[in-house]
Amino acid sequence: MRAPLLAVLVLLTPGLFAQNTSSDWSTPAEQSNYRTTPDYAATMAYLRRVAAAQPQQVRIEPFGKTGEGRELDIVIASKDGVFDPDKLHAAKRPIVLVQNAIHAGEMDGKDSCLALLRDMVIDGKEAALLDRAAFVFIPMYNADGHERRSPYNRINQNGPEEMGWRGNGSNLNLNRDYMKADAPETRAFMAMFHRWLPDFFVDDHVTDGADFQYDVTFTIEHFANLHADTGRWLEASVIPDLEHQVDASGHLASPTYISLVDDNDPSKGLDFDAFVPRFSTGYMNLENRPSMLVEMHMLKDYKTRVTGNYELLRALFEVVNRDADKLIALNAAADREAEQLGAHPLSNVGYPLALAWSGETTPFLFRGYQYTRELSAVSGTMWVQYSHQPWNVTLPLQTGAKVAASAVPPAAYIIPPQWTQVIDVLAAHQVVMHRTTAEWTAPVETYRCTGGNWQQPPFEGHHPMFAGEGSKGHPGEPQHCTLVTETMTFPANSAVVELNQRLSHVAMAWLEPMASDSAMAWNAFDPIFEQREEGEPYVVEKLARAMMAKDPKLKTEFEQRVQNDPKFAASPRARLEFFYDHSQWMDPKLGLYPVGRLTKLNGVPLPSSVSN
Ligand SMILES: [Zn+2]
Repeated sequence: MRAPLLAVLVLLTPGLFAQNTSSDWSTPAEQSNYRTTPDYAATMAYLRRVAAAQPQQVRIEPFGKTGEGRELDIVIASKDGVFDPDKLHAAKRPIVLVQNAIHAGEMDGKDSCLALLRDMVIDGKEAALLDRAAFVFIPMYNADGHERRSPYNRINQNGPEEMGWRGNGSNLNLNRDYMKADAPETRAFMAMFHRWLPDFFVDDHVTDGADFQYDVTFTIEHFANLHADTGRWLEASVIPDLEHQVDASGHLASPTYISLVDDNDPSKGLDFDAFVPRFSTGYMNLENRPSMLVEMHMLKDYKTRVTGNYELLRALFEVVNRDADKLIALNAAADREAEQLGAHPLSNVGYPLALAWSGETTPFLFRGYQYTRELSAVSGTMWVQYSHQPWNVTLPLQTGAKVAASAVPPAAYIIPPQWTQVIDVLAAHQVVMHRTTAEWTAPVETYRCTGGNWQQPPFEGHHPMFAGEGSKGHPGEPQHCTLVTETMTFPANSAVVELNQRLSHVAMAWLEPMASDSAMAWNAFDPIFEQREEGEPYVVEKLARAMMAKDPKLKTEFEQRVQNDPKFAASPRARLEFFYDHSQWMDPKLGLYPVGRLTKLNGVPLPSSVSN
């Protein structure tokens, strides 16, 4: 009996037996001595081998598909086989979600996560990092870009031999898609993220930009839209600890992403990126969760980068295990605060929609390289050439963020049902909405806006209403909108979004038109700026003469404009439009924001199950 049974087992699970006999758990990158990074199939094969060897501690779960149809996976490491996010939350075990290869040419984090997983669950060297924390990571978020491999994908980067591509299968930059959620990868991420609701989020990248001594740079935003107590904990405990631990491991960390004020003149100092929610780490502020942007330095060799990324993640797990209760309490407090956003106290507490720099700086000991500058005949401007001689100098680091645009939170928003894309994006973000049961007319707060600032050329498949990326990812020029009160009619089935939920900040960031990544900024409301009817010149000519005969004041206004405004005077079209625009034929909805801001829910026809 025994022999046939064993034979059956061997036949059924040949791979398992073969794998368990091998004692070599080097990651593919380690096996190549960091010359190469594994492709999608080889990465997943390694991870499946780890999961098969330690099924009690590791599970791989699909969470969606890329545009090209590749499976997107998360890897979950939990010391005692609890792989259910609800049970982990109930047990007060903080969940750390690490995202890799969103820019798939920058895969240092993926190879460091493979090694960290191995050290946690196979050789047990780092098993203690799972004492309280659960480790969840996305090995290859931009999996389609990851498979577009070439030695020529990252001109600034020192290895590995081949690497993936920055854009996804449709060439969208997924790290500009967190708010508008155009890509299937983003939609899959949102569903997975809200199922897990991690306590700390990490996004692994490789820099572009200047040359300097640091191999590890990271930014943890600790102001702006983040819960204030969380910001204080990050600033006082987390950031310095990570820096010291990474330095103690033999790497050199900068606790801020190195961004030069002037790329051609490092001596002018550094600025600090505040993240708007098109970026993963900016979006996490709206989710009331702390996050870390990791940027390994592009010119360091691949081994230095992967092991440096490893040390930073290892240090983060030490902090999260040590401060597990604090982190969980801070996140709960941040959620409660978000649930109060629409309570609408009689104060003018605004919600920051955009940040600018106050001009405040702090001295920062920068460990750069000495450089020379000379006028280049190629570019016609200064050419910076870095040496590898250390240049340790105190430079001004811009730190003072100030609110550039803000809005008082309403109690709720109401969105007419025909704006399907606007509602669909909120649904993808899992914002709670209720539909009205009948048509409703009432005076509500809204905005009168002017268009005309659409960006050229396209940016992320849009012509958004902000300039460029904004300066280095800072918010661009906001749209021009004025708060007004108007009587508006909302059809039955309009979507009501109350700001009494943990995703209140997401709702505001999408529905306040002046916000950096609003539906308005990303073109969802462009049609409100299009004039649908026009008068034929010979028809308007008649209208103009009749209006002037009836209204001498209007006639004077017109004549003065002709006299004082040569451009106007020279445009037959503008002269006729003057009368059309002042007539009852003018569309009263042109430039009128269709979304209402409700200061209270009294009278709004909502299902009886919704208490208001
Ligand atoms: Zn990147």
